[in-house]
Amino acid sequence: MDNEKYDFKEGDSEPSEVEKVLGSMPSFEEFRRTVEEESNGVSGLNEIAEKYGYNEELKKTLEMIVPEIADYYDNLDGVLKVLDECPIFMVEPGKKSSEAANKYFGTNEELPTLASGGTSTVPRITEDGQLEVRKGIVLRGGDKRTLQTLVHEICHQVASINKEPRLEPDGRIKVDTGLSSEYYGMGEDGAMKLVGSKWVYLEEMMNAYDTEMIMRGIKGDNYKSDEYGILRAIAYNCPADVIQKLERLRIQGVDVGDSVDYEKLDGISSILDDIMIVPRKISLSNKMAGGDREKAKEIRREMDQRNVEKAINGLNSF
Ligand SMILES: [Zn+2]
Repeated sequence: MDNEKYDFKEGDSEPSEVEKVLGSMPSFEEFRRTVEEESNGVSGLNEIAEKYGYNEELKKTLEMIVPEIADYYDNLDGVLKVLDECPIFMVEPGKKSSEAANKYFGTNEELPTLASGGTSTVPRITEDGQLEVRKGIVLRGGDKRTLQTLVHEICHQVASINKEPRLEPDGRIKVDTGLSSEYYGMGEDGAMKLVGSKWVYLEEMMNAYDTEMIMRGIKGDNYKSDEYGILRAIAYNCPADVIQKLERLRIQGVDVGDSVDYEKLDGISSILDDIMIVPRKISLSNKMAGGDREKAKEIRREMDQRNVEKAINGLNSF
């Protein structure tokens, strides 16, 4: 206790009872700081917004969504770590790319016309031979899906904290995002190229499920997401303990404290691929229907239905 601060008069031998209570309480300064932090939203967010030069609108958006995401995953530090390491770039409405993003990544990428955003995680090898993944979220501004996409991309990254890129024995570089892995290799032109992936739609299923839950916290219980509807439907048909087990596997990597049947997950993942990889589905159904487009459509519908049932059954016994 700092006597001077409470202005004890010279000659007061013992502090009174009131003074004792006051002395054991946090100082006015500390109170003021706590109150300011509460009214400013999440502490630490201001610094991040300043570091990346975010405008007021994006800052306000982050103040709104960060507490919800942190609450859902019970991991505020993790969410802040993601935002600290993963800058957000906005593509202006009507434009195809963000100059700042291309400068940051050292590439000349355009956001696909139909995409509302994404996270770039392409690895590179630094001058001193270290593996590095430069992460950044690129978002189309002014789209009705911008907010949901931002939540979705942050969730993928919260599920990827501490998952470092790895050099595989075959020379490929493995980058993990939640449950999924992407494999990169050097192309003939010397550029890093995506050469393979694993469990991509299993990760999207979990992430789309989480995103909708978090968006309900932000927008109200009636909120309906418009992404990966078929994958969310599968997740909603899973018992809660299966979802929790997948969530632990996703967030913490291999050490989940349960026995994990990886072969079974491989099987479920390939069923999800069959549902989600549309060009493959179309060419297969066209062949089966002998060129009859209506019949091909009907075949695809039946294939989807059967695969959804198979995925749900597989997950129910996972
Ligand atoms: Zn995603």
